[in-house]
Amino acid sequence: MGTDVVVVGAGVIGSAIALELSRAGRDVTVVDKAGGVGLGSTSASSAVIRFNFSTYAGVAASWEAAALWTHWPEHLGHDVGELARFERSGLVMLDADVAPRSLYLPLFDEIGIQYDEWDSADLRAHVAGIDAGRYWPPRRLDDEAFWKDAVGTLGGVWTPDAGYVTDPQLAAQNLADAARLHGAQFSLRRAVTGVDVRHGRVAAVMMDDGTRIACSTVVNAAGPWSGKVNELAGVGGDFTIGTRPMRQEVAYVSAPEGFAGPGGVGISIADMDLGTYMRGASGGGLLVGGTEPECDPVEWIDDPDAASPAPTAAVFEAHVTRAARRLTDLTVPHRAKGVAGVYDVADDWTPIYDRTDLDGFYVAMGTSGNQFKNAPLVGLLMRTLIEEVEGGADHDLVPVRYAAGRTGTTIDLGAFSRRRSVNAASSGTVMG
Ligand SMILES: Cc1cc2nc3c(=O)[nH]c(=O)nc-3n(C[C@H](O)[C@H](O)[C@H](O)COP(=O)(O)OP(=O)(O)OC[C@H]3O[C@@H](n4cnc5c(N)ncnc54)[C@H](O)[C@@H]3O)c2cc1C
Repeated sequence: MGTDVVVVGAGVIGSAIALELSRAGRDVTVVDKAGGVGLGSTSASSAVIRFNFSTYAGVAASWEAAALWTHWPEHLGHDVGELARFERSGLVMLDADVAPRSLYLPLFDEIGIQYDEWDSADLRAHVAGIDAGRYWPPRRLDDEAFWKDAVGTLGGVWTPDAGYVTDPQLAAQNLADAARLHGAQFSLRRAVTGVDVRHGRVAAVMMDDGTRIACSTVVNAAGPWSGKVNELAGVGGDFTIGTRPMRQEVAYVSAPEGFAGPGGVGISIADMDLGTYMRGASGGGLLVGGTEPECDPVEWIDDPDAASPAPTAAVFEAHVTRAARRLTDLTVPHRAKGVAGVYDVADDWTPIYDRTDLDGFYVAMGTSGNQFKNAPLVGLLMRTLIEEVEGGADHDLVPVRYAAGRTGTTIDLGAFSRRRSVNAASSGTVMG
């Protein structure tokens, strides 16, 4: 069996890459060891779309990608049936020492992102039942100081164009279905177990059923498994940025009375002051996740397959109790409900979208719990990168630049290089 490009991973990233490469006329086969599209970390995603990143490229990419989500049917270009929906809830990023406004507002201004600066009175006026107290730094529930009174108040930055995608797995499915209409093949329940190299270039991938898929290009979009797939290909030795899987939980609770407002979905809130984030969910629900505050243990794991998918009582209670400090009408249920997934965390919480030192082998990895939002754009970035590199460009020397069609920015793909310096401005958290 042979093809032109093998994409390893049918998550939202691999499916987006498959769409753009097949749209460009490449012969694409996507392989995934799972039984369906988007069943990896994509399925656990909170799918929040926001613009607060610490680099120009990070902000510009999320802004362009939001425009693609907003025009989802046009982006897909085909009728693929039921669609995932971008819910433009708006998001308020509460003030926190770890990610000050001064870090990202100049980038918002440069890129043209609409925002409002809210003080604590504005916050109270816009979010029913919110406590605008400043509690920094975040603490564990078993630390007495957790229950101390606030020290002053805080405000935040409101971005009306932020929001979330209603169903992340369906979004991946939409991309895959559109890719199929351009001829992409999806081969499921088959794991890549080896990469065959001939004369310094990718020649084939080996599958667990003993078959060999001859190809000239491989894209590693294996999410939290991407490090293992790199090992199969013998690449990674020249990476200056490491990646590591981290288990993460998201709690699902009932939103407090009045959170959504009549006919609304409720404002999404990023609250690094308490170490949490929240967004509305279907059926009057609220998703509550964490922002890796320093006080919390992190759950690094070696094998993403071994990560329990069930939420634990301890993490559920921590997430929801923090959220209930902020949204004072929120109650903390006794029974833990939610999902657990795995982040593919890069050293500076910035993804790696790059070639490698093995010709024909590309990576879209290290998505660090924050790249669902960029997925449709990542397809376009990887297509541009692959076309340029295959056309002879020396991306390592002169990084490829992407002209973002909807927002008019230029994204320097050097920002996502495997050989970049660690981004010192990173918050060291999922916020990037
Ligand atoms: C709990 C949680 C909350 C999140 N919240 C947000 C958020 O609010 N906003 C945001 O922007 N991002 C968020 N993210 C991050 C976002 O969901 C991920 O960055 C994104 O889904 C990664 O997609 P992917 O396609 O790279 O990986 P995955 O969806 O994990 O897909 C990788 C695929 O590769 C397959 N695979 C692996 N190894 C092999 C192999 N050897 N052979 C064949 N197939 C293989 C797997 O089966 C899997 O289907 C969150 C992530 C998690 C876990």
